[in-house]
Amino acid sequence: MKFTVRSRGDQESNMIAQKVHNYLEEFQLTSDVSEPDIVVSVGGDGTMLEAFHVYNHRLEDVSFVGVHTGHLGFYADWQPEEVEKLVIHIAKTPFKIVEYPLLEVIIRYYGEKKAERFLALNECSVKSTEGSIVMDIEIKGESFETFRGDGLCISTPSGSTAYNKALGGAILHPSLACIQLAEMASINNRVYRTVGSPLVLPQHHTCLLKPVKEADFQVTIDHLTLLQQDVKSIQCRVAEEKIRFARFRPFPFWKRVRESFITG
Ligand code: NAP
Repeated sequence: MKFTVRSRGDQESNMIAQKVHNYLEEFQLTSDVSEPDIVVSVGGDGTMLEAFHVYNHRLEDVSFVGVHTGHLGFYADWQPEEVEKLVIHIAKTPFKIVEYPLLEVIIRYYGEKKAERFLALNECSVKSTEGSIVMDIEIKGESFETFRGDGLCISTPSGSTAYNKALGGAILHPSLACIQLAEMASINNRVYRTVGSPLVLPQHHTCLLKPVKEADFQVTIDHLTLLQQDVKSIQCRVAEEKIRFARFRPFPFWKRVRESFITG
């Protein structure tokens, strides 16, 4: 089996990443940065987001596992003192794969520029570079509302505990193949009216955001922010692809939610 280890880059994460790397080589596993079968991310959820974006072109062939340095992570669920145990699991035991849904984002442009496609593990957020955004929102091909406000956040179930949660969105179990649309400070008056509640859309229900007037947008895919001009539409739906996590022991999602937000 081929592996690679990615670190958040701080001293503690680098040290643990090096330890994992050395142990895995001792077990005769091969280090391969370009085509690993398993990616061990050492750091936090942000480190896992970065790892996902490095390997998102070969999701069918790669599994991810996270070691958290610092506080408990949603994607990083092994502790530094457990790395010996984790390495033995990786090297010796066939592991279970758990798949989480991803968000597909297609941005279409006016003029010559070709449409661009992105995959998000947490979410896509759309904001203005200046003032509020005004977007017509279509769901499954039908006009739903015109949104005016600070922005919109479309998240995956595993991303529902991140930005979406801060916006008052629901926490969704990652076994649900769906996406959630949450508002950022909508303006509601006689001209603009939105539903106000976060919406959960099932697989194959496409959500289309269409700018009402020409403007520049700040589109963020997980941790990557892109300045977008001449945007005709932003299409969001559950992606065909999924991310695969290597699971060596049960760690129920609701337990992670409780430990992160309640009992900490
Ligand atoms: P960051 O601003 O350095 O950190 C964002 C925080 O979100 C970190 O504490 C990170 O955990 C945590 N996080 C990431 N994914 C999570 C998840 N699925 N569930 C719960 N917490 C999660 O940015 P970053 O590390 O590059 O991460 C980018 C993410 O930041 C975005 O995807 C977005 O969800 C989030 N964000 C949140 C807000 C907000 O809550 N108001 C605003 C902007 C962006 P670790 O410390 O373990 O890495």
